[in-house]
Amino acid sequence: MKSSLTHLTCSATGETYDANQLHNLSKAGKPLLACYDLQKASETLTLESLKLRVWNMWRYAEVLPWPGAEKLVTLNEGGTPLLRASRIEQKFGFKNLLIKDESVNPTGSFKARGLAAAINAALQRGSLSFAIPTAGNAGGALASYAALAGVPAHIFMPADTPLAFKTECEASGAHLNLVDGLISDCGKIVAEREEKEGWFNVSTLKEPYRIEGKKTMGYEIAEQLNFNLPDVIVYPTGGGTGLIGMWKAFDEMESMGWIGVKRPRMVSVQTEGCAPIVKAFQEDKTHADFWDNAHTCASGLRVPAAIGDFLILEAVRKSNGTAVAVSDKEMMRYSREMAALTGIFPAPEGGACLAATLKLLKSGEIDKNDQIVLFNTGSGYKYLEAYQTD
Ligand SMILES: *Cc1c(COP(=O)(O)O)cnc(C)c1O
Repeated sequence: MKSSLTHLTCSATGETYDANQLHNLSKAGKPLLACYDLQKASETLTLESLKLRVWNMWRYAEVLPWPGAEKLVTLNEGGTPLLRASRIEQKFGFKNLLIKDESVNPTGSFKARGLAAAINAALQRGSLSFAIPTAGNAGGALASYAALAGVPAHIFMPADTPLAFKTECEASGAHLNLVDGLISDCGKIVAEREEKEGWFNVSTLKEPYRIEGKKTMGYEIAEQLNFNLPDVIVYPTGGGTGLIGMWKAFDEMESMGWIGVKRPRMVSVQTEGCAPIVKAFQEDKTHADFWDNAHTCASGLRVPAAIGDFLILEAVRKSNGTAVAVSDKEMMRYSREMAALTGIFPAPEGGACLAATLKLLKSGEIDKNDQIVLFNTGSGYKYLEAYQTD
């Protein structure tokens, strides 16, 4: 297997960049996206060849920053189940409801996919020290991969983040810095210090490869559904890496002849205490305003500003999807409901998706006959405090 990565392009201007070099944002200050020779990729990455490959995200090596089998730093991320939620179907009247259960990833969330891709790419390009602003799970994932690779990780996390997220970073030997403020304040500190300290900043969408790791969720869903994409995908959105990534994956698969033009309606879910994307969607804006006083117990959704906001909004609109906010109360209620009806102990972000799906069923925006994939993006074990409220 060989990566068919060719170059990077600026998501705003289309300007190209050398993929062999380390990069953060483009000169325009926007995310860089990875481009591949998909014709070449499809010569070895065939549906036939997939049958023989290990069921983790690196099975799509040709369309990833794959460093080669000997160099790969991996905890076996990806390859998560797509589970039929029959008891949820029965209770609420859905005909075909599936849950992509990302809680079984290493480090207990789908952040493992993105950070594994970013770390492998950065190590291969000479980076030896990493920094990240995080609302929780991304820090834990970076700490684990840095531990595995034996390189330092500097993690900047809001001081009021639940205990589990701090403990896992410290246990893995990362340098944990608690910040009085939000992830956006953490981001400012990393930006101020990265150059002097020689850190490579792996903040969401500020390097090109976390999105590549997360896009593998799109490839997996396609494979798990025999290359018939679902009608609807319901995704809890913070920085939006997964949503943008899956949208990119669908285009890549179409170019390789794996799927047709049909796309799922992409539903972006946020909480009422931090809903910049929902607000921008409703106001018909291309970019989102900074959300003041962001609060929610779903730490992955406590992201007041997303640098890829325009990419999230574009994918949601092009897909004929929507954006919806739920309250923390509804989110925790349906996190419990999901646990009780599926046996999955979800992160609140997963419960938010169930709450949003039911809202859209009620409003008629989702039909009970639709095939729906909803995401449980992490494990409930890190959110015991949230489960104890209410
Ligand atoms: C980070 C995170 C999210 C949001 O993911 P994005 O792709 O950045 O929008 C959702 N759920 C959990 C559990 C997370 O850790």
